[in-house]
Amino acid sequence: MIQENVDLSTFNTLAISAKAQYFAEVKNQSQIQQALNFANDKSLPVLLLGGGSNLILTQDFKGLVIHIALQGLEWNELDSDWVEVTAQAGENWHQFVEQCMHRGGHGLENLALIPGTVGAAPIQNIGAYGVEIKDYLISLTALDRETGQVRAFSCSDCQFGYRDSLFKSQFPDRYIVLSVTFRLRRRAELQLGYGALEQALSEVESPTPKDLFNAVVAVRQSKLPDPLKLANAGSFFKNPVVTQDHFQHLKLKYQDMVAYPDPNGMKLAAGWLIDRSGWKGHRQGDVGVHDRQALVLVNYGRATGEEVLALAQRIQADIKKRFQVALEIEPRCY
Ligand SMILES: Cc1cc2nc3c(=O)[nH]c(=O)nc-3n(C[C@H](O)[C@H](O)[C@H](O)COP(=O)(O)OP(=O)(O)OC[C@H]3O[C@@H](n4cnc5c(N)ncnc54)[C@H](O)[C@@H]3O)c2cc1C
Repeated sequence: MIQENVDLSTFNTLAISAKAQYFAEVKNQSQIQQALNFANDKSLPVLLLGGGSNLILTQDFKGLVIHIALQGLEWNELDSDWVEVTAQAGENWHQFVEQCMHRGGHGLENLALIPGTVGAAPIQNIGAYGVEIKDYLISLTALDRETGQVRAFSCSDCQFGYRDSLFKSQFPDRYIVLSVTFRLRRRAELQLGYGALEQALSEVESPTPKDLFNAVVAVRQSKLPDPLKLANAGSFFKNPVVTQDHFQHLKLKYQDMVAYPDPNGMKLAAGWLIDRSGWKGHRQGDVGVHDRQALVLVNYGRATGEEVLALAQRIQADIKKRFQVALEIEPRCY
């Protein structure tokens, strides 16, 4: 089960060529336990890997990479309004969303085409086009690496925030998500109130969930590079939140600044800040800022994780200098 010296370039969407000292693909709980025992016996650090679409490998990983590949879906019709679906952690997220839509469980359509696995989706409370996973997640199960016990978490236990959860900020690496349960609507209430989606569906009289799903896929395909064609890790920075005073001050100078109200002030569009600073399309060797989406850093070929991070740090320093705003990197760095 355990392989040695495995190249991870096909296991991360930035296509960074780092090596795992040890690598195990796990398909059930007992294989997870065997892999953890192996790591414990050798006192190795562990990296949990799903689809590799939200991490940056800055060097070879001297430890055990556990590739989560648990599969399976359980469908439970609750009543005429709701259905509960439990998916194992290694299920592909986009295929899961599509399957739910086809079988008449609605709500996740706005999250179509987000790369990665079901098990990683709660780690940063994935979100897009006005919906976050927390809106439909009822509970999840996770193996606690400290106690060795499987624990159930309710939605509120997970402490979801903007691209954040208990598993990302408070206890990184402690819990291995095994399965996630969603409560979905049998009668769709479509979330269409997002500019690009509204526009894409403007000609459709009474949009169905399938229309919404297709529109999300089309909008995303037109805006974001496909990692299989141009390696990337999606949005590289979180949208920063600033105080109202800070925002008003910036707005005097930058009248076209894109921002949204937030409980803690105003949320600025990180992509706008980077674009306005002239970084869009910038390329340095094999690493660059995408020429249509300033929030996305890309690997044109043989970029290393260190080179990607170095560019990210130059962008952070520039944005800090121009706008006095700290940009936080969204993917996890290893
Ligand atoms: C083109 C593109 C578009 C994207 N668009 C969006 C978007 O619209 N919205 C959004 O929110 N995100 C987006 N992302 C980010 C990414 O797809 C999500 O964060 C996704 O949930 C990551 O899943 P993964 O399986 O690839 O996780 P990985 O990258 O493999 O892992 C991410 C983190 O989760 C941990 N992890 C993985 N599996 C488990 C598990 N079972 N238990 C515990 N920890 C685990 C890892 O150790 C790592 O720290 C995008 C990425 C790309 C490349």
